[in-house]
Amino acid sequence: MKERLLQESTPADADDRLPVSQVNGEKTSEYISSLVPDLPDWLADTERRAKREEVPIIRKEAQGLLRFLLSARQPKSILEVGTAVGFSAAFMEDCVGYGVPLTTIEKVPARIEAAKRLFTERSELAAITLREGDAAEVLAELAAEGRKFDFVFLDAAKAQYPIYWQLIRPLLADGAYFVADNVLQEGSIAESKFTVQRRDRTIHLRMREFVRELFGEKSVVSTLLPVGDGMTVSVYHER
Ligand code: SAH
Ligand code: MG
Repeated sequence: MKERLLQESTPADADDRLPVSQVNGEKTSEYISSLVPDLPDWLADTERRAKREEVPIIRKEAQGLLRFLLSARQPKSILEVGTAVGFSAAFMEDCVGYGVPLTTIEKVPARIEAAKRLFTERSELAAITLREGDAAEVLAELAAEGRKFDFVFLDAAKAQYPIYWQLIRPLLADGAYFVADNVLQEGSIAESKFTVQRRDRTIHLRMREFVRELFGEKSVVSTLLPVGDGMTVSVYHER
């Protein structure tokens, strides 16, 4: 079977390598994005405004994956690390039909202002609580408060992902989903560290460390998907 698969995609003298996926690329990405459902007008406006102001919000493909995962898990509580102007928090509320308690963390004052404005303007978003401050500190506070979440979306400082993961693990309820965004960094994480620019090397090292630790963790089953900018999806089971 393996032999036949190899013959179909590689020259006859191919070694033991398994066939490599050829599907990732701009066209595929555009096609997948075109399948993602439209947003309500006000949310589409929020998305457009954020893009115009160059706020790095979740892309269409990531929206598709999050909507699917939220529908599968049906969380009773959601945690987000990295609110920005509130687009993804509002989006997740839309996915679950609104009213599900969602805690989101942001530290940049201008973004906090914009997010708060959105969360108070739209009555659908009343279940969102914005926690201001450094994510590492707020995550430790949430643990001290004994909080647990069914769904956690990590989308903050990329070099801090290993630390965030350590702080998020105790916050996962049994059966929780944990999703992290921007794990492939435009594909650069899959490259050798020697090919990445010096300034990106810290992110490269830390992201590799995060993925290694996540996949080494016995209490979660994880996958890394080349969706959007690369996303890990994990499910946590208490043992
Ligand atoms: N999830 C948002 C986008 C988040 S962008 C969306 O898709 O709509 C990442 C955000 O993380 C930025 O707004 C940045 O200010 C915030 N951030 C980065 N480091 C942080 C930290 N240490 N504590 C809290 N927020 C942080
Ligand atoms: Mg992101």
